[in-house]
Amino acid sequence: KLPQEILIATNNPGKFSEISDLLKSINIKAIPTFDFNIAEPEETGLTFEANSLLKAKYYGQQTGLFSLADDSGLCVAAMNGAPGIYSARFAKNAAGKNDFAFAFQKIADEIAKNDAKNFRAHFICNLSLFDPKTDFEISFEGRVDGNLIFPPRGDKGFGYDPIFIKDGMNQTFGEIDPVLKDQISHRGAAFKKLVDWLKNPNL
Ligand code: IMP
Repeated sequence: KLPQEILIATNNPGKFSEISDLLKSINIKAIPTFDFNIAEPEETGLTFEANSLLKAKYYGQQTGLFSLADDSGLCVAAMNGAPGIYSARFAKNAAGKNDFAFAFQKIADEIAKNDAKNFRAHFICNLSLFDPKTDFEISFEGRVDGNLIFPPRGDKGFGYDPIFIKDGMNQTFGEIDPVLKDQISHRGAAFKKLVDWLKNPNL
Protein backbone atom coordinates (compact mmCIF):
# COMPACT_ATOMS: atom_id res chain seq x y z
CA LYS A 1 0.00 0.00 0.00
CA LEU A 2 1.12 3.50 -0.78
CA PRO A 3 2.44 5.48 2.19
CA GLN A 4 0.74 8.73 3.14
CA GLU A 5 4.02 10.12 4.43
CA ILE A 6 7.52 9.81 3.04
CA LEU A 7 10.73 10.80 4.81
CA ILE A 8 12.94 12.89 2.51
CA ALA A 9 16.48 11.67 3.09
CA THR A 10 18.33 14.96 2.68
CA ASN A 11 19.73 17.58 5.03
CA ASN A 12 19.42 20.18 2.25
CA PRO A 13 16.44 22.51 2.98
CA GLY A 14 16.16 23.60 -0.68
CA LYS A 15 15.90 20.01 -1.87
CA PHE A 16 13.39 19.23 0.85
CA SER A 17 11.00 22.04 -0.04
CA GLU A 18 11.18 21.22 -3.76
CA ILE A 19 10.40 17.54 -3.18
CA SER A 20 7.78 18.42 -0.59
CA ASP A 21 5.85 20.54 -3.16
CA LEU A 22 6.01 17.77 -5.69
CA LEU A 23 4.66 15.13 -3.30
CA LYS A 24 1.94 17.48 -2.04
CA SER A 25 0.50 17.50 -5.57
CA ILE A 26 -0.17 13.77 -5.21
CA ASN A 27 -1.34 14.05 -1.57
CA ILE A 28 1.75 12.62 0.06
CA LYS A 29 3.22 14.41 3.08
CA ALA A 30 6.99 14.95 3.05
CA ILE A 31 8.76 14.53 6.41
CA PRO A 32 12.16 16.25 6.85
CA THR A 33 15.16 14.56 8.48
CA PHE A 34 15.77 17.72 10.53
CA ASP A 35 13.41 16.46 13.27
CA PHE A 36 15.48 13.30 13.78
CA ASN A 37 19.01 14.63 14.15
CA ILE A 38 20.58 11.77 12.17
CA ALA A 39 24.21 11.92 11.01
CA GLU A 40 24.65 11.66 7.23
CA PRO A 41 25.78 8.23 6.00
CA GLU A 42 29.00 7.76 4.08
CA GLU A 43 28.29 7.51 0.36
CA THR A 44 30.35 4.45 -0.41
CA GLY A 45 28.43 3.24 -3.47
CA LEU A 46 30.04 3.16 -6.91
CA THR A 47 26.94 4.21 -8.87
CA PHE A 48 24.26 6.88 -8.53
CA GLU A 49 21.73 4.11 -7.89
CA ALA A 50 23.85 2.45 -5.20
CA ASN A 51 24.28 5.76 -3.37
CA SER A 52 20.64 6.85 -3.56
CA LEU A 53 19.55 3.40 -2.36
CA LEU A 54 22.14 3.42 0.41
CA LYS A 55 20.78 6.76 1.66
CA ALA A 56 17.11 5.71 1.40
CA LYS A 57 17.87 2.50 3.36
CA TYR A 58 19.96 4.24 5.98
CA TYR A 59 17.36 6.91 6.76
CA GLY A 60 14.52 4.40 6.47
CA GLN A 61 16.15 2.06 8.98
CA GLN A 62 17.03 4.92 11.35
CA THR A 63 13.47 6.30 11.40
CA GLY A 64 11.22 3.35 10.53
CA LEU A 65 9.63 5.54 7.85
CA PHE A 66 9.15 4.98 4.12
CA SER A 67 12.07 6.98 2.71
CA LEU A 68 13.06 8.75 -0.49
CA ALA A 69 16.69 9.63 -1.30
CA ASP A 70 18.47 11.03 -4.34
CA ASP A 71 21.93 11.08 -5.84
CA SER A 72 23.01 13.12 -8.82
CA GLY A 73 26.00 14.46 -10.68
CA LEU A 74 27.70 15.46 -13.90
CA CYS A 75 29.48 12.94 -16.15
CA VAL A 76 32.02 14.32 -18.64
CA ALA A 77 32.80 12.13 -21.67
CA ALA A 78 36.41 13.33 -22.05
CA MET A 79 36.97 12.43 -18.39
CA ASN A 80 35.59 8.88 -18.70
CA GLY A 81 32.43 9.89 -16.89
CA ALA A 82 34.08 11.81 -14.04
CA PRO A 83 33.33 13.57 -11.77
CA GLY A 84 30.10 11.47 -11.76
CA ILE A 85 29.20 10.28 -8.26
CA TYR A 86 32.05 12.46 -6.97
CA SER A 87 30.56 15.69 -8.40
CA ALA A 88 29.99 17.36 -5.03
CA ARG A 89 33.48 16.49 -3.74
CA PHE A 90 35.07 17.56 -7.05
CA ALA A 91 33.84 21.12 -6.45
CA LYS A 92 35.53 21.53 -3.07
CA ASN A 93 38.75 23.52 -2.94
CA ALA A 94 41.79 22.77 -0.77
CA ALA A 95 40.08 24.48 2.18
CA GLY A 96 37.04 22.19 1.81
CA LYS A 97 34.78 25.00 0.55
CA ASN A 98 32.50 24.78 -2.50
CA ASP A 99 34.27 26.46 -5.41
CA PHE A 100 32.64 25.85 -8.76
CA ALA A 101 34.93 28.27 -10.62
CA PHE A 102 37.74 25.95 -9.52
CA ALA A 103 35.76 22.88 -10.65
CA PHE A 104 34.96 24.42 -14.07
CA GLN A 105 38.65 25.18 -14.62
CA LYS A 106 39.66 21.62 -13.73
CA ILE A 107 37.10 20.24 -16.21
CA ALA A 108 38.22 22.62 -18.98
CA ASP A 109 41.86 21.60 -18.35
CA GLU A 110 41.03 17.87 -18.40
CA ILE A 111 39.11 18.19 -21.69
CA ALA A 112 41.98 20.16 -23.27
CA LYS A 113 44.42 17.49 -22.12
CA ASN A 114 42.43 14.32 -22.95
CA ASP A 115 40.12 14.97 -25.90
CA ALA A 116 40.24 18.65 -26.80
CA LYS A 117 37.20 18.75 -29.09
CA ASN A 118 34.91 16.57 -27.03
CA PHE A 119 32.56 18.66 -24.88
CA ARG A 120 29.92 15.95 -24.44
CA ALA A 121 28.49 15.52 -20.94
CA HIS A 122 25.37 14.37 -19.14
CA PHE A 123 23.68 14.84 -15.80
CA ILE A 124 22.18 11.86 -13.96
CA CYS A 125 19.67 11.91 -11.12
CA ASN A 126 18.71 8.72 -9.32
CA LEU A 127 15.84 8.54 -6.84
CA SER A 128 15.25 5.58 -4.52
CA LEU A 129 12.37 4.54 -2.28
CA PHE A 130 12.79 2.17 0.65
CA ASP A 131 10.16 0.75 3.00
CA PRO A 132 11.82 -0.46 6.24
CA LYS A 133 8.68 -2.43 7.18
CA THR A 134 8.88 -4.71 4.14
CA ASP A 135 12.42 -4.05 2.80
CA PHE A 136 10.78 -3.03 -0.48
CA GLU A 137 13.09 -0.94 -2.65
CA ILE A 138 12.83 0.72 -6.06
CA SER A 139 14.95 3.24 -7.99
CA PHE A 140 14.22 5.64 -10.84
CA GLU A 141 16.83 7.34 -13.02
CA GLY A 142 16.73 10.44 -15.21
CA ARG A 143 19.39 11.64 -17.64
CA VAL A 144 19.95 14.74 -19.74
CA ASP A 145 22.61 14.96 -22.48
CA GLY A 146 24.38 18.04 -23.76
CA ASN A 147 27.64 19.91 -24.26
CA LEU A 148 29.85 21.84 -21.88
CA ILE A 149 30.80 25.43 -22.60
CA PHE A 150 33.57 27.62 -21.19
CA PRO A 151 33.59 30.22 -19.77
CA PRO A 152 30.45 29.60 -17.63
CA ARG A 153 27.25 31.51 -18.42
CA GLY A 154 24.32 32.52 -16.20
CA ASP A 155 23.63 32.69 -12.49
CA LYS A 156 20.12 31.25 -12.22
CA GLY A 157 21.02 27.65 -11.45
CA PHE A 158 23.37 25.93 -9.05
CA GLY A 159 26.39 23.66 -9.22
CA TYR A 160 27.48 22.80 -12.75
CA ASP A 161 24.49 24.53 -14.42
CA PRO A 162 26.49 27.47 -15.89
CA ILE A 163 28.66 25.19 -18.08
CA PHE A 164 25.93 22.82 -19.36
CA ILE A 165 23.85 23.28 -22.52
CA LYS A 166 21.21 20.61 -23.13
CA ASP A 167 21.03 19.22 -26.68
CA GLY A 168 18.75 21.34 -28.85
CA MET A 169 19.13 24.44 -26.67
CA ASN A 170 21.51 27.39 -26.90
CA GLN A 171 21.43 28.64 -23.31
CA THR A 172 23.07 26.98 -20.33
CA PHE A 173 21.04 25.60 -17.40
CA GLY A 174 22.36 28.66 -15.54
CA GLU A 175 20.68 31.01 -18.01
CA ILE A 176 17.22 29.46 -18.35
CA ASP A 177 14.25 29.88 -16.01
CA PRO A 178 14.65 27.35 -13.15
CA VAL A 179 11.00 26.30 -13.59
CA LEU A 180 11.78 25.34 -17.19
CA LYS A 181 14.98 23.60 -16.11
CA ASP A 182 13.04 21.43 -13.66
CA GLN A 183 10.78 20.27 -16.49
CA ILE A 184 13.58 19.23 -18.85
CA SER A 185 16.36 18.17 -16.48
CA HIS A 186 17.65 14.80 -15.31
CA ARG A 187 15.92 15.52 -11.98
CA GLY A 188 12.66 16.32 -13.76
CA ALA A 189 12.88 13.05 -15.69
CA ALA A 190 13.57 10.99 -12.57
CA PHE A 191 10.74 12.67 -10.68
CA LYS A 192 8.33 12.04 -13.52
CA LYS A 193 9.09 8.32 -13.27
CA LEU A 194 8.77 8.42 -9.47
CA VAL A 195 5.43 10.25 -9.51
CA ASP A 196 4.04 7.94 -12.22
CA TRP A 197 4.96 4.99 -10.02
CA LEU A 198 3.49 6.57 -6.85
CA LYS A 199 0.21 7.19 -8.68
CA ASN A 200 0.03 3.52 -9.59
CA PRO A 201 2.38 1.58 -7.28
CA ASN A 202 2.85 -2.14 -7.78
CA LEU A 203 3.62 -2.91 -4.16
P1 IMP B 1 24.34 15.35 -4.40
O1 IMP B 1 23.51 16.47 -3.86
O2 IMP B 1 25.14 14.61 -3.39
O3 IMP B 1 23.53 14.44 -5.28
O4 IMP B 1 25.49 16.03 -5.28
C1 IMP B 1 25.22 16.41 -6.55
C2 IMP B 1 26.40 17.14 -7.14
O5 IMP B 1 26.21 17.22 -8.55
C3 IMP B 1 26.52 18.56 -6.64
O6 IMP B 1 27.86 18.96 -6.68
C4 IMP B 1 25.73 19.35 -7.65
O7 IMP B 1 26.26 20.63 -7.80
C5 IMP B 1 25.89 18.53 -8.93
N1 IMP B 1 24.60 18.54 -9.61
C6 IMP B 1 23.59 17.64 -9.50
N2 IMP B 1 22.52 18.01 -10.21
C7 IMP B 1 22.85 19.20 -10.76
C8 IMP B 1 22.13 20.11 -11.57
O8 IMP B 1 20.95 19.95 -11.92
N3 IMP B 1 22.81 21.21 -11.93
C9 IMP B 1 24.07 21.47 -11.55
N4 IMP B 1 24.77 20.66 -10.78
C10 IMP B 1 24.17 19.53 -10.38
